Amino acid sequence: MIQGKKILVNLLNFNQPQLAKWFAEQGEKPFRAKQLMRWMHHFGVYDFEQMTDIAKVLREKLVVDAEITLPNVQLEQVSNDGTRKWLIGTDTANSIETVFIPEDDRGTLCISSQVGCALECTFCSTGRQGFNRNLSVSEIIGQLAIANQSLRQESGYDLLSANDRIISNVVMMGMGEPLANYDNVVTAMQIMLDDNAYGLSRRRVTLSTSGMVPAMDRLKEDCPVALAVSLHAPNDALRDVIVPINKKYPLKELMAACNRYLEKAPRDFVTFEYVMLDGVNDTVEHAHQLLDLVRNVSCKFNLIPFNPFPNSGYDTSKASHIRVFRDILMQAGYVVTVRKTRGEDIDAACGQLAGKVLDKTKRTANRIPIEVVE
Ligand code: SAH
Ligand code: SF4
Repeated sequence: MIQGKKILVNLLNFNQPQLAKWFAEQGEKPFRAKQLMRWMHHFGVYDFEQMTDIAKVLREKLVVDAEITLPNVQLEQVSNDGTRKWLIGTDTANSIETVFIPEDDRGTLCISSQVGCALECTFCSTGRQGFNRNLSVSEIIGQLAIANQSLRQESGYDLLSANDRIISNVVMMGMGEPLANYDNVVTAMQIMLDDNAYGLSRRRVTLSTSGMVPAMDRLKEDCPVALAVSLHAPNDALRDVIVPINKKYPLKELMAACNRYLEKAPRDFVTFEYVMLDGVNDTVEHAHQLLDLVRNVSCKFNLIPFNPFPNSGYDTSKASHIRVFRDILMQAGYVVTVRKTRGEDIDAACGQLAGKVLDKTKRTANRIPIEVVE
């Protein structure tokens, strides 16, 4: 935000080491970073005046130089099954979506990383919309902050301590390819893991990628969280078509990258996501090819019945075909889950997150405009 001519620094863009550096540059003690992280992320306090353990002079200085500003919530919707969706406006032309999925033993927040996506997977509504821009750190971590506040308010703040977690898991599976916005996504995930912020365990933060191999190698060094890989096809010919990044990083390289990642991963398996597209990738032969492909990778499978959107050109696999496909994998000894569709009545299902994207790529041929119904 600009105040007069001065640009205020949004402190939600920093992880703790970056904030310590910023304080040091202001001539302040780096330990202030820890205090600020706790106020912002632990207690959800954004007004410097309320930060009582910070000296008044410093508070006054912060008001002049800095801000703590969340992105705007345009709409919050609740599904019949308890799933919640927030439409978050990043600017007037663009919006992204965040989804909370309550289950008996956990609460999972699905976070977006980009406005749109440049990778053009043919069955994905975000991909069909083209790419506008990367989200900033404050816009990524802001989704967790917004959801956390809203859910805590609903449950009655008074009844909860700051350590009570309604959101126990985060999945980077909303709009966008997280590894294509590497720096901001890693910084935001570091804040999720920081004990002075959200304190989530690395096992409970999952990043889903369509297979950007070099970035997977960087991630295993910088922030090795649980990994999901969007496989969707068992051979290069088919994957080249439905997940076009495959032309750059084909399956052999992707499998090798998964194995390298497992050396540092918090879980001893990679989750392979596989969208079930009727007649495209769901036959018995595809299942056997898949077993062959993953032979040397420790993995689990998550089969995702295709969630339709207007003019997608695809149909969801028949339930009987999904069962046969699942059984072939299970009989080979793999753990397989079939993802339940949640929040269908509010278009919150996986792959249906549309938001509003002003396509900067100008890739309008074959593009189907998807508007949010507000
Ligand atoms: N870009 C990342 C993360 C976002 S998509 C990735 O591709 O992994 C999260 C998951 O939803 C991916 O596995 C993606 O392939 C899947 N998906 C996309 N569109 C879908 C649809 N219409 N139905 C079901 N799953 C879909
Ligand atoms: Fe992008 Fe993932 Fe959608 Fe592919 S599936 S277009 S990588 S968001």
